[in-house]
Amino acid sequence: MTVTSHTAEDTRAAFDRARHAQRRWADTPVSERKKIMYRYHDLLLDRQDEVMDVIQEESGKARKDAHEEILDSAITARHYANQAARLLRPRTVRPTLPIITTTHVEHAPVGVVGVIAPWNYPLILALSDAVAALIAGNAVVIKPDAKTPRTALTAAALLHEAGLDEDLLQVVTGAGSVVGQEIVAQCDYLMFTGSTETGRALAAQAGQRLIGFSGELGGKNPMIVAPDADLARAARGAVNACFSNAGQLCISVERIYVHRDVAAEFIPAFVAHVEAMRVDGSRDWTVDMGSLISAEHHAKVSALVEDAVSRGARVLTGGKSLGGTFYAPTVLTDVPADAALHREEVFGPVVYIEIVDSLDDAVHRANDTHYGLNASIWAATATGRALASRMHAGTVNVNEGYSAAWISLHAPMGGWKASGVGRRQGDHGLLKYTEPRTIAVQRFMSTSGPEFLPREKFATVARTALKLGKRILP
Ligand code: NAD
Repeated sequence: MTVTSHTAEDTRAAFDRARHAQRRWADTPVSERKKIMYRYHDLLLDRQDEVMDVIQEESGKARKDAHEEILDSAITARHYANQAARLLRPRTVRPTLPIITTTHVEHAPVGVVGVIAPWNYPLILALSDAVAALIAGNAVVIKPDAKTPRTALTAAALLHEAGLDEDLLQVVTGAGSVVGQEIVAQCDYLMFTGSTETGRALAAQAGQRLIGFSGELGGKNPMIVAPDADLARAARGAVNACFSNAGQLCISVERIYVHRDVAAEFIPAFVAHVEAMRVDGSRDWTVDMGSLISAEHHAKVSALVEDAVSRGARVLTGGKSLGGTFYAPTVLTDVPADAALHREEVFGPVVYIEIVDSLDDAVHRANDTHYGLNASIWAATATGRALASRMHAGTVNVNEGYSAAWISLHAPMGGWKASGVGRRQGDHGLLKYTEPRTIAVQRFMSTSGPEFLPREKFATVARTALKLGKRILP
């Protein structure tokens, strides 16, 4: 597949085509849109090997991580296909003035949604938001990362094969500074996933244009191991929590706070699991971790680890390159507060452990970050639930690293603080691509009372009615 590097002019032309096609699509019944999403769901599953090959070739990730993208994308398409009619149906709301006013809310598509996506989950992060926007009646123009364009192009081709007009979903490839900026200038809603730094700049631009914006940004996600945790399960689960997709996962764990009472049992068990991981670049399903995305990213991860070690951090396992763009899954301890990776997102297979004397201290340290994306707690259920409600994070997983909340598609997913604004998934994940239109119909008399009633009398009647009715009126 040849990938073109598009220009700003190409991007404007894509928006022109999209706007034209969207007008027809907005009038297409939801039941028809839904059929296309079901066909896409089936095509994705039927062609999963072909799609996983493309994902692996572009990103270097392990087969199991590519498969996670297939499952998530199919489930998300099915979810919004099944929820769209309920979400988009005009609904009657309780009026403030019963009987004389009836009020409905409709949801109109915003128009053309721009999706700007990163490289780490090139299928999910380019297509799943697009699917929600499409089924809400919008057209979508996607800009995948320049390192992973073929995954988005392959998935878009499946949606077109499923019956979606090609102009309704277009993929423009190229640099963020050219194609990305043109999307920001043209779109009616901007869905951005990527770094906090870029997210801040794009949010300001969206603010200038007064268009809707969602930013799914970085994280420095904590994990807490409580004294009443199932430690064997926690040690195994931590491997997935920290090293899925080689840690290039916004919701993966980069800090572990383990209670002193169980540290001597948890830490060696975790390290043993990490040392047993299979790391290579094959398509074999038994591989636990693939490579990093690029030599540049490998250099960034290595430098962060070297900086921490030079300041006194101890390497419990890993801490070195495995050749090429492969980096060993790495567990550190005694990381000093002045090491950059103590607070900065590594976005690689690197986690550090701190031993804490109390769960209060664990919660305090976990929340002591400018990020707030995901948190993971390993504990007996009651302890886990209680701790979860104290976390400053958009998602909290109890006895799981990240995936339980991630696959809870009926719930919102996104970040607090510098981890983002807006949410994907849940009802909001589709409704944000619509403009609500409130229609209120007035009967019998105006909202300022019957014409025969003088204003002063109306004021007296209104005051009496409001005071008497405050417990019964809606
Ligand atoms: P990035 O911000 O550098 O790039 C993301 C996308 O934005 C790319 O397509 C890029 O080309 C584009 N872009 C960059 N500059 C732009 C500009 N000025 N105008 C328009 N578009 C521009 O992010 P990255 O480093 O490639 O991705 C990794 C980051 O993404 C990590 O911080 C990670 O935590 C975050 N992330 C967050 C989530 C989430 O759901 N919260 C998911 C995945 C990744």
